[in-house]
Amino acid sequence: MTKLMKGVFFPGSMTCTVEDVEVPTPGMGEVLLEMRASGMCGSDLEYIYKVPKEKRGQPILGVATDPSTITGHEPAGVVTAVGPGVRHLKVGDRVAVYHINGCGFCKDCRSGWHITCTEVHETYGFDRHGGNAQFMVADERDCVILPNNVSFDAGAFVACGAGTGFSVTRRLGISGMDDYLIFGAGPVGLSAAMFGKHMGARVMVVDMNETRLDMARALGVARTINPAKQDVRDEVLSFTNGVGASAAVDCSANPRARSMMFDCVKTWGRAAFVGEGHDVHLDVSPQIIHRQITLIGSWVYSTPMMMELLETISRHGLPLGELLVSDRFSLKDAPKAFERFAAGETAGKCVFVDF
Ligand SMILES: [Zn+2]
Ligand SMILES: [Zn+2]
Repeated sequence: MTKLMKGVFFPGSMTCTVEDVEVPTPGMGEVLLEMRASGMCGSDLEYIYKVPKEKRGQPILGVATDPSTITGHEPAGVVTAVGPGVRHLKVGDRVAVYHINGCGFCKDCRSGWHITCTEVHETYGFDRHGGNAQFMVADERDCVILPNNVSFDAGAFVACGAGTGFSVTRRLGISGMDDYLIFGAGPVGLSAAMFGKHMGARVMVVDMNETRLDMARALGVARTINPAKQDVRDEVLSFTNGVGASAAVDCSANPRARSMMFDCVKTWGRAAFVGEGHDVHLDVSPQIIHRQITLIGSWVYSTPMMMELLETISRHGLPLGELLVSDRFSLKDAPKAFERFAAGETAGKCVFVDF
């Protein structure tokens, strides 16, 4: 008799359904996970949830999407069965899943950057079944073991959002020498703030949403700035003795914030773009060239970085799940959960924890 489970689907045009589907069987090199946490991400909304029904099957960012694919690209769970050829994982292992299944053979995949795989690759939750279900099948090599003292919530958050915040903070080389300015206090920006502070920087966070600024304050950041009430550049200059931030990242994707970032960074400073979509107008000579700015584009992270982040959370006891997961939902309430998320009614990371 076939065993059934619940899975969450996006038919398009801001709709969400929970349906009964077959529990999958792991194939060669694959494991079956019983889900314990599955994160909701802004890219779920922008790239699949909000897409009109008639366009729902079209490729997005070069990735084929299919409304019959189970959603969720921030999975964490327990291995309950292993397929043939699985060599490292065993039943009972706690894991999080890196959300891109690369070819495993190209130069980028071999260095852990599945995200920029140059061959055929799949993305869990977009064109391969993801974690918004009671069970999922993942390739063994996409799984990273969770240290015993790291929660499934934190594991799911690390699988995309927090990994992205960590990666850009590492690539900017943040240290105790820095005044680190972060535009956008969503889950990615807030996690970057937590890691920047942990790495010793004085962190400033900019957002219009006071609930998000409250979360930044709970992290103990040095300064929060609300552009609706304050002049961002004045605040940054007054906090840095008129020098400007030594490093900054835009996680907001807001065109004005993106440009303002360069006006708040000091000469010889570093800046990064992480927030996706929209555009920006930059006056390249005065804002970037004449000020000797190093500019980084940072897209997600690599599997070694995911391991490094989980080890850091474990050894240093970073309260990622405790402080930055704001909303926990039951899988059966997925339609309501995504409605609230899309309406901007949630502040930090949203995670399914009850399957
Ligand atoms: Zn994501
Ligand atoms: Zn590859």
